[in-house]
Amino acid sequence: MRKPIIAGNWKMHTTLREAEALVNQVKAHCQHDAVEVVVCPPFTVLSAVAQLLKGSRIGLGAQDLYWEPQGAFTGEIAAPMLTDVGCHYVIIGHSERRQHFGETDATVQRKAQAALSQGLVPIVCIGETLAQRDAQQIFDVLKAQLDGALGRLSAADVQRIILAYEPVWAIGTGRNATPQQAQEAHGFIRQWVSKRFGQDTAELLRIQYGGSVNAANAASLLAQPDVDGALVGGASLKAEPFAAIVKAAVEARSKVGAQS
Ligand code: PEP
Repeated sequence: MRKPIIAGNWKMHTTLREAEALVNQVKAHCQHDAVEVVVCPPFTVLSAVAQLLKGSRIGLGAQDLYWEPQGAFTGEIAAPMLTDVGCHYVIIGHSERRQHFGETDATVQRKAQAALSQGLVPIVCIGETLAQRDAQQIFDVLKAQLDGALGRLSAADVQRIILAYEPVWAIGTGRNATPQQAQEAHGFIRQWVSKRFGQDTAELLRIQYGGSVNAANAASLLAQPDVDGALVGGASLKAEPFAAIVKAAVEARSKVGAQS
């Protein structure tokens, strides 16, 4: 049984004081054995948040990295810098990075390899735009993204990553994918992984859904058999909705446990 993972992507939000207040509340309300919980604050507060998370069950992630380990790359952050401040996860290829900062499947692949080589768990984001969905290109798009981002990894590497299916039209729009749409995409992704890396790897791989997940829709999304958690943007900036999403994951897992 795959352990659900709920990750909060704080994006470009939180001053130091705001981050400390938020992470203290997350610590108070979101710790469960049955679900992995991760927060991904901006770089500037990672170190402070890491201090506050010491001894807790909440994991720490960054929102991006650069693939070189060090050097003259002004403004960039390397994998060893992230592990140094206590990160265990890193989001890679978020659609906002693809859209605003020119990331491609090739850069996603290099970043994923850099993260893995440093022992970080990459949360690799893929997903189609609305135009691509309307043109019924969703599976072609997902396949191209998977080929480009994961094609050169080994099965052992793929077992260590987390995939996040995030339809671009659902991110920050308040319009989430229906549970059926999410399951259809997740099922396709798992099938692709099974064909490429084998069934064992496909069964171990956790696939998060992301895109306007909130306290009201989390339970139905997380009830889908191939939805193994959520990558949460807006609703992770307040502890109450984030805790409700974590609770929905705990309940979804206990239902699966009761059936198996
Ligand atoms: C995200 O940032 O990955 C995301 C899914 O955002 P939101 O939950 O706000 O749609």
